[in-house]
Amino acid sequence: MRSSGRNNPCPICGRTKDGDCRWTDDVIFCHCGSSHSPSQSLRIGDTIALNGAKWALIKTNGGFDGAAFVFKPHQEKSGGSRRRVPDSPRELSTKQAKRSIASVSLERFFDAYRAAWDVNDLHTLNAHRLNEAIKDIEGAARIGRDLSRSVDSIWRDLKDLYKGAFEACLSSINEQVKELAHFRTFYLGECPAEVMH
Ligand SMILES: [Zn+2]
Repeated sequence: MRSSGRNNPCPICGRTKDGDCRWTDDVIFCHCGSSHSPSQSLRIGDTIALNGAKWALIKTNGGFDGAAFVFKPHQEKSGGSRRRVPDSPRELSTKQAKRSIASVSLERFFDAYRAAWDVNDLHTLNAHRLNEAIKDIEGAARIGRDLSRSVDSIWRDLKDLYKGAFEACLSSINEQVKELAHFRTFYLGECPAEVMH
């Protein structure tokens, strides 16, 4: 078995800095690391072309530490029901529709996030503004939560493009929700059970 190294880049991710990816002519273990990893948008059954040969992703938690994508040479199954066939026009338009729904939801989240981000220091707000701030912050958090639940099913392609930004916004908004809950408990004297809803 060969492993990635200075003069031996991993055929999938190009890793050269260490030996975390390993392969033979029949199998490739490509390690998901912080600097190098196989494309995270790949799903089991997807194939990629390497030097003209097709390899199929068969496992996403392989290798000794469970952090490697495992690829094997792709075998065309004749008449097999699990074979991936090219998208029909109808499937393609369904995909595009899902994609545009996803991008609209994503836009809505980023807008809501900006509104929450623009909320001033809670201590300076009057009762009316405070109510609006609570709606903004909790609303953004709710949209983010809903979106992160539907992530895999609807925005597979977009996810890679926006993953970093989305996750950063989501964790920031969750921090804001925590601060808000703290504020409502300690400064408004609300009881935590109400605050969490
Ligand atoms: Zn690799």
